[in-house]
Amino acid sequence: MGSFLDKPKTEKHNEHGCGNGLRYGVASMQGWRVEMEDAHCAVTGLGEGLEDWSFFAVFDGHAGERVSAHCADHLLECIVGAEEFRSDDVIEAIRAGFLSLDARMRALPELASGEDKSGSTAVCALISPHTVYVANCGDSRAVLCRSGRPTFSTRDHKPVLPAEKERILRAGGSVMIQRVNGSLAVSRALGDYEYKNVEGRGPCEQLVSPEPEVSAVVRNEEKDEFLVLACDGVWDVMSNEDLCAFVRSRLALTDDLESVANQVVDTCLYKGSRDNMSIVLVTFPGVPQPSAEAMQRERELEELIERRMTDIINQGDTVEFLHVLQALADENIPGLPPGGGLSAKRNFIESVYKKLCPNNADSNSPESQRRGVSET
Ligand code: MN
Repeated sequence: MGSFLDKPKTEKHNEHGCGNGLRYGVASMQGWRVEMEDAHCAVTGLGEGLEDWSFFAVFDGHAGERVSAHCADHLLECIVGAEEFRSDDVIEAIRAGFLSLDARMRALPELASGEDKSGSTAVCALISPHTVYVANCGDSRAVLCRSGRPTFSTRDHKPVLPAEKERILRAGGSVMIQRVNGSLAVSRALGDYEYKNVEGRGPCEQLVSPEPEVSAVVRNEEKDEFLVLACDGVWDVMSNEDLCAFVRSRLALTDDLESVANQVVDTCLYKGSRDNMSIVLVTFPGVPQPSAEAMQRERELEELIERRMTDIINQGDTVEFLHVLQALADENIPGLPPGGGLSAKRNFIESVYKKLCPNNADSNSPESQRRGVSET
């Protein structure tokens, strides 16, 4: 549970790439937190006979960044290096890879000594030409959008889930304020070794378990559109349906996946997320392409917003940014991005405000960033 800054750090880290018919874009942002503890990994073409396989992952660290950073560097090699992988049991190999990574990492001096108590969630996708293998440990989440809808998602490992709670109680722990021993908000994670010391119990029977839930989804060449991996900083403020609809609406405007990923984290920030945010967006060959109609509709939306802002500013006694923003929110402007709403146009609204009120452009002040507006 880190502390918060006076003003969010909105600089983004971006990456993009393509291979094996897939394209990907990554965006991460520190946001309101004092530390950035997320990490990620994106590789197309794994080499050594796995040229047509790809790997993507998001890690949400807590109590430090040591474990999330180490996982981003080593989870893939632990999975493909597992004996089960060579005998073609990919699901079992992923499970074995998580467990061996967690066991090996424990020997790192600063983690072994307890000096560093960090831990991390992990959500990853290993994509072969025929199958998407998805694994989750903790409360980061993967969602597959097929035919325009979220048809598959991972399950978040929260301590209040009956099976998780049962394991925690059997290991002698408790679940209070929805947290393990009143402290940790996830029931499964890599690292967090102070929760993995109950004698006589295996690694998957501890207060916190490193065991992933693994699913194999057979690919559908025509219908699979995209896969999103993201940490809870995104899912706290967007449902699976929201995020699929929003990403889809942005993909109708651009094929720049970094830009789409950036719009997701910006929108989540303005929707009120206070956490670090990371998203890996992977598109399949069946992803819808940008369309001239969608671009025309977006231009019309922006023209409408600019007209309404001009009216509000001309009529009002006060032209404070938040006043304008609240007035726009109260109007229920039609055609706002699905799943994103007015928050998705916040950067545009700020740029128009700076143009219309050049002497009053305080829209980046901490005060205005801290307060949101209520959308109906
Ligand atoms: Mn988080």
